[in-house]
Amino acid sequence: MNSLHLKSFTRCKRKAWLDFKGKKSFQIWSPHKAIDKVNQFQIFSKFCNGEIYTGLKACENGYQGVIGLKIKGNLFQNINAEIRPQLLLKTKGKSKWGQYKYLPAVYKLGHKTTKEHLFDLAFSSMLLEPFQESKIEKGLVISTFYKKVKLEEIYLNKKLRKKVLNVLLNLNECLEGSIPEITQDRKKCTICSWQKFCDKEAKENGYLTDIDGIGSKTASLLKANGITNTQTLALYNEKQLGDKLSKFKDQKYEKASIFIKQSKAYISGEPYLISNKNNMEDLLEKICSGFYIFDIESNPDDKHDFLYGFLKVNKLFTKKEDLFYKPILNLKNNKVESYRKIVEILFSQKEWPVLHYGETEKIAIINIAKNLNFSFEEIDSLASRFIDLHTLIRKSWILPLKNYGLKTVSNWLGFEWMQKNVSGSKALYWWIQYQITENEIFLKKIILYNKNDCMATLQIAEYLIKNQLKKN
Ligand code: SF4
Repeated sequence: MNSLHLKSFTRCKRKAWLDFKGKKSFQIWSPHKAIDKVNQFQIFSKFCNGEIYTGLKACENGYQGVIGLKIKGNLFQNINAEIRPQLLLKTKGKSKWGQYKYLPAVYKLGHKTTKEHLFDLAFSSMLLEPFQESKIEKGLVISTFYKKVKLEEIYLNKKLRKKVLNVLLNLNECLEGSIPEITQDRKKCTICSWQKFCDKEAKENGYLTDIDGIGSKTASLLKANGITNTQTLALYNEKQLGDKLSKFKDQKYEKASIFIKQSKAYISGEPYLISNKNNMEDLLEKICSGFYIFDIESNPDDKHDFLYGFLKVNKLFTKKEDLFYKPILNLKNNKVESYRKIVEILFSQKEWPVLHYGETEKIAIINIAKNLNFSFEEIDSLASRFIDLHTLIRKSWILPLKNYGLKTVSNWLGFEWMQKNVSGSKALYWWIQYQITENEIFLKKIILYNKNDCMATLQIAEYLIKNQLKKN
């Protein structure tokens, strides 16, 4: 077992097992992991003023930062372990290499220092101590906040070491046993490289957490009431289920009805129309004389929207080739220039609504309008032009899907992205690559991805209109 297994184990036992024993061909490439690696290297390098080297030789030479070192050792008599410290940082002391020693350091994304960071540091120290022949009192957590490097010291006391030892024993037992269950908290799965593999099994076994709106707590509550899978849930009586869902208070019967319909749709593969005639007539009336579709690509850690994409649609159901797409890049976070272009587009067709998927786009535009000192009335009038199709589709349909994300819904409608296996995270990964290499090919990929996102949103709008009109 190694540091990576421990990291996975703290997130999901099954992930640790799959990383160790799973068939690699079932694993998919994770942009999150790649982004993490790049960020990690950049921040470590900045922290060590560029004096960062790889492997054992770097320790012997006493360089400030050492990466890529793997150290093997024995935890107990017969348990072999390997640490892969993210970074070793030179400090005062005495080790087998001379009048210095190394401390383990980890990179942290976001604000919260978690078990994952603490365990990694403690595990690293356990094998690093005998290896460098020097005691380690503390480890370091390195992060950035508004582009400034932050450092947190973690004391690796007896209590923490003992705790990690226990976790390592459990990890060892887990890796030797059979594959663990899928995690109850399926939110963790969204950034996991084994997601496809686990999703397939979850669907086959009728996992309750496959149903939109059912998280780990609701799933446990249902199980306690004898509803153990989606099949049982689909056949349940709405009133009886509502009585069991008192935690949802006034909404208990409404929730019960949605959960049951959602399960039925999920199992049968058939969508279910919630009558919503007025909303659709309203949408049709608003968009019949033209509209924009708007989609943003951003780097949330830097609070930087690097691409604003507009698709101009003069008429619904026009040929895709006749649509006009305008990307506005914001490469240097030069707000003035990109804001001017956005306002120019939005006000070139003052009455046109702006369709988007999810709340981000509307929030971004309101912020831009505030930044440009628009009056309250102007902001109100601009915001009222925005129509969130994600909210609308949820109000109008129960779809046979696990979630209502843009990719899931539009894929189900048959939309295909021109680039394979893409996602917002992959676009962010390309953006980071562009910043490092300045190779325009990455910008081209991002723009094509964003254009496809706009087209996918259009396909959802067309579906809403077409099917609602048919049913009425
Ligand atoms: S997809 Fe979910 S259940 Fe499967 S290994 Fe990853 S986190 Fe665990």
